[in-house]
Amino acid sequence: DFWTHCLDHFQGILTDQQLNTWIRPLAVDVESDKVVVKAPNRFVAQWVKDRYINQIDQLARGYFEQSYPIELIISEAKAAAQAKGRPAAVAEAAPVESATPPRAGGQVVLDESRLNPLFNFDNFVRGKANELARAAALQVADNPGAGYNPLFVYGGVGLGKTHLIQAIGNQVLANNRRSIVRYIHAERYFSDMVRAIRTKSFEDFKRKYDSLDLLLIDDIQFFAGKDRTQEEFFYTFNSLIESGKQVIITSDTFPKDLEGIEERLKSRFSWGLTVMLEPPELEMRVAILLNKAKQESETLDEASAFFIAKQIRSNVRELEGALKRVMAYARFHQQPISVELAKEALKDLLAVQNRQISIENIQKTVADFYKIKVADMYAKKRTRNLARPRQMAMYLAKELTDMSLPEIGQAFGGRDHTTVIHACRKIEELKGSDLTLRRDYNLLVQVLTG
Ligand code: ADP
Ligand code: MG
Repeated sequence: DFWTHCLDHFQGILTDQQLNTWIRPLAVDVESDKVVVKAPNRFVAQWVKDRYINQIDQLARGYFEQSYPIELIISEAKAAAQAKGRPAAVAEAAPVESATPPRAGGQVVLDESRLNPLFNFDNFVRGKANELARAAALQVADNPGAGYNPLFVYGGVGLGKTHLIQAIGNQVLANNRRSIVRYIHAERYFSDMVRAIRTKSFEDFKRKYDSLDLLLIDDIQFFAGKDRTQEEFFYTFNSLIESGKQVIITSDTFPKDLEGIEERLKSRFSWGLTVMLEPPELEMRVAILLNKAKQESETLDEASAFFIAKQIRSNVRELEGALKRVMAYARFHQQPISVELAKEALKDLLAVQNRQISIENIQKTVADFYKIKVADMYAKKRTRNLARPRQMAMYLAKELTDMSLPEIGQAFGGRDHTTVIHACRKIEELKGSDLTLRRDYNLLVQVLTG
């Protein structure tokens, strides 16, 4: 079970003494919507909170293929069920509709929808990078099966695909408790299917999918090269769509670019609506950090949020990771979060990144990209074919470096900071309306930060 899995992990990295003092005294209950970790006293609880809870959280993510909130409580009685090596709350945790028998090996039966209630629309921060995807998701959530079908969401890692589609699932369930919803990661679908074939319960497997009102299938790129799985999914997909049931798919690429996936599936994936999640822009990253801190009842001032957001650009998951690190560091040193403290807490991380991105690097990369001379970046000429790349470079400098607007202006041939503001506004605006420019931007960010 899950706790055994955790013990195995900790056994590998802790001494016997540490293990006996901090980990073995814990009892763990896996409930339908959270994992409850019980510590025998305040002291152990604090210690575990400071050093191990993040790892338990990570382990839960891997084990259940989604994240569960981890609740740490103080409880004298070591859960009786724990002694038997099985989490207690299993039977009660499974809702009535999902009365599937527990799987062999004492595995936990989770809510059949497998949705994490923490992924909802309320805490999904909006911004340019996800505006369209979010709007489409909201529509589908309020009209499952009756609009865009399938909804295909794609984007790089950590950009919110899983969060967004689970938000749809949670919303559909909130609107109608009786809807049969299922979230599944493509890898899990594959392994469930293999197991069903092996245990001759394939018909049950099929039936379970054919009876859904909403199927959320995550990271479909994992179907690559798995022909039998693709074939099976093809029938399930068709049957659901034909009977007006909603299908939502995520992937790391645009449907047509999926490798190792049958053509007929790829073309069906594009039947409905395809939306992209993009890397969040600076303001959105700040909003996400402030939001997250609020959720954790942590005080985070805007200056520190901006500092962290400026440093961590690649995706939301890393952003959250950085915030966690800063929070842990602050707690450990019993100091409030500040820019200075964040700088210290993220030192190792930043050392790697900052070496790469200098203003010269940005100017050179952008100039190469648009096939102009680097010197044109500082030149006074205002011809349009030079102005746009220059604006792009200024905007990237604002997003990717620590430089202030006057400093950026200075680096571009002594321009005024209002010119930089204007450039940034222009690019922001074009990113919303000009698909080519948006692609250029994303590509440049990738090249510069990759
Ligand atoms: P993906 O599935 O694309 O790899 P996830 O959905 O797992 O990404 O998102 C990674 C983390 O970032 C999750 O903790 C998620 O809650 C958070 N996240 C992503 N996008 C947003 C957003 N717009 N607002 C708030 N949190 C977000
Ligand atoms: Mg995901």
